[in-house]
Amino acid sequence: MNEFAKTSRNQVRRMPARGAYDRETIYPILDEALICHVAFAVEGQPYVIPTIHARAGDVLYLHGAPASRLLKHIMQGHPLCITCTLLDGLVIARSVFHHSVNYRSAIVFGTGRQVTELQEKEQALALLTEHIARGRWDEARQPNSRELAATEVVAVQIESASAKMRSGGPQDDDEDYDLPIWAGVLPLALLPLIPQQDERQSFGVDLPASIQNYSRGR
Ligand SMILES: Cc1cc2nc3c(=O)[nH]c(=O)nc-3n(C[C@H](O)[C@H](O)[C@H](O)COP(=O)(O)OP(=O)(O)OC[C@H]3O[C@@H](n4cnc5c(N)ncnc54)[C@H](O)[C@@H]3O)c2cc1C
Repeated sequence: MNEFAKTSRNQVRRMPARGAYDRETIYPILDEALICHVAFAVEGQPYVIPTIHARAGDVLYLHGAPASRLLKHIMQGHPLCITCTLLDGLVIARSVFHHSVNYRSAIVFGTGRQVTELQEKEQALALLTEHIARGRWDEARQPNSRELAATEVVAVQIESASAKMRSGGPQDDDEDYDLPIWAGVLPLALLPLIPQQDERQSFGVDLPASIQNYSRGR
């Protein structure tokens, strides 16, 4: 099944026409988003932690320091909710009320486990590196055993998910269209600026392809 079942957990109730449940819609949002926010509750207190992720099939990999509360919590198998948000533009309407945003967002539900097997851990770290900058894993020095030991990796199985999207211009009230107020869309995107070479770069090194050609998604 390429579509996640609609349940009380993932069914988009507010503006349901903007919702989607198929992997073809949800997974490109996860892959384009540079970061995610992981939500979890500890003794009734909710936390939302931003972090880097990478996807392989129905699994999201996260990594960090072994001391991370987030990762320890995930390794204990508690339920998680992970959100990725792509902000595509500001929708500027004639009325304050109809201002909005264009976006593609994905919400994923699942539980995680510690990645203990070395091969899977290295693959996950390669995916995470490639998620940050395509081609960087092969350009950079690979992690040594000390660095691998100092990095915790968890795998979150995607059990349920939804996407929600808005596109297009403002939808003002009919009587407002003749008002002399500018309306439209201000597109927004995550774009790289000029790379800044590290001051400790001791000899001439060309800008690597992963940075020279940096782009995310579409
Ligand atoms: C950048 C951005 C800005 C937004 N700003 C606002 C705002 O200012 N005010 C506002 O009311 N709403 C805003 N939204 C929409 C917001 O994310 C919710 O969809 C909306 O508030 C309805 O929330 P709810 O809990 O009633 O959703 P419900 O429809 O009850 O949620 C039920 C289920 O639908 C799915 N779902 C809901 N929202 C999303 C989503 N965004 N992406 C993927 N799946 C989803 C989830 O699985 C959720 O568990 C914004 C969204 C984005 C991405």
